[in-house]
Amino acid sequence: MLNLDFHPSGRHFLQIPGPSPVPDRILRAMSLPTIDHRGPEFGALGRELLGKVKKVFKTENPVIIYPASGTGAWEAALINTLSPGDEVLMFETGHFASLWHRMATRLGLAPEFIGLPGYEGWRHGVQADMIEARLREDGDHRLKAVCVVHNETSTGVTSDIAAVRRAIDAAGHPALLLVDTISGLASADYRHDEWGVDVTISGSQKGLMLPPGISFNAISDKAIEASRHNRMPKSFWAWDEILEANQNGYWPYTPSTNLLYGLKESLDMLLDEGLDHVLARHQRWAAGVRTAVEAWGLEIQCQDPAVYSPVLTGVVMPEGTDADEVRKIIYERFDLSLGTGLGKAKGKMFRIGHLGDCNDLTLIATLGGCEAGMKLAGVPLKGSGVTAALDYFAGQPLEAAH
Ligand SMILES: *Cc1c(COP(=O)(O)O)cnc(C)c1O
Repeated sequence: MLNLDFHPSGRHFLQIPGPSPVPDRILRAMSLPTIDHRGPEFGALGRELLGKVKKVFKTENPVIIYPASGTGAWEAALINTLSPGDEVLMFETGHFASLWHRMATRLGLAPEFIGLPGYEGWRHGVQADMIEARLREDGDHRLKAVCVVHNETSTGVTSDIAAVRRAIDAAGHPALLLVDTISGLASADYRHDEWGVDVTISGSQKGLMLPPGISFNAISDKAIEASRHNRMPKSFWAWDEILEANQNGYWPYTPSTNLLYGLKESLDMLLDEGLDHVLARHQRWAAGVRTAVEAWGLEIQCQDPAVYSPVLTGVVMPEGTDADEVRKIIYERFDLSLGTGLGKAKGKMFRIGHLGDCNDLTLIATLGGCEAGMKLAGVPLKGSGVTAALDYFAGQPLEAAH
């Protein structure tokens, strides 16, 4: 018998900042039969994908696609470019930066974690001047890479990657620049080539609107050169054999065929709409959601308006309110999933995802669930965020895509 607890009527509201809702068009594309990954049709698909995906990263260089979650692509970036014991500079912006730092330690690198003091780092983006100052001290160039997160999904704060590039250049330092835009790609402005990034890491289940399961490394010539001489053991993740097989549209091992069908559809959707339009749509949603938070009289986790995330918004609960209790009520009463507070932010805030396959009314419904749930939980609200966001969206029409 159908268990109504697990299968309530209507669509589940998946408003966590990834996985994001998968459009029907992508689900349909993925339902096609799996084909021979060594056959001619597959090669044609592979070549098409590997060409088109570069446009989303804004690069002319190769983009590697792994059958793995984003975490795998993090590891790939580190072990293809660095050697055991290498010092790397990482910046603490939140939970994901912390996890990447822990991974570097576990891999036998010597990461140095800098950031703003205490919890401040979790409410601001990367401070490029701190990176520049640290690199200037490193006269004998012991630091081999600078690793930063572009869109910190645990807090809803982006970082200015162009400023980090300028900081590295101003210090005259040869360190590689490795950037995690797992949740930023195709939702927040990102430019691999223009910003001089050496390895860009991304994943499928956020702005690309795919299910989890594939991830990416976009790689510069300098990164490829580093991968030829670095001394970290690598095999499955090694770029060289993948790059070689990719020339003809294939992979050295079985790729995630059906997720690649989905990727083709996702790239067609994004590129047909136009990336600029996609990004404008996210900025507008984020502004609408922030209007709601302000109307509620609540605080946004990000304290620097210059780097508000277009992907998600962290909503801080008043002292004494457990954000996870509020989330639980919202989930149970309205079948709406919101992001939990991670790491140092646990219990302090919840996260509203506004990325990918959304529209004004899915976000209004999401805000409605938040508002009603917070009232049920006894959170004092100054006014109606739903009404404020409705007015915002009504007053800010988004220009048609073409
Ligand atoms: C989601 C996410 C990750 C982890 O990716 P998985 O696919 O869960 O392995 C890492 N960094 C950021 C910024 C993310 O948003």
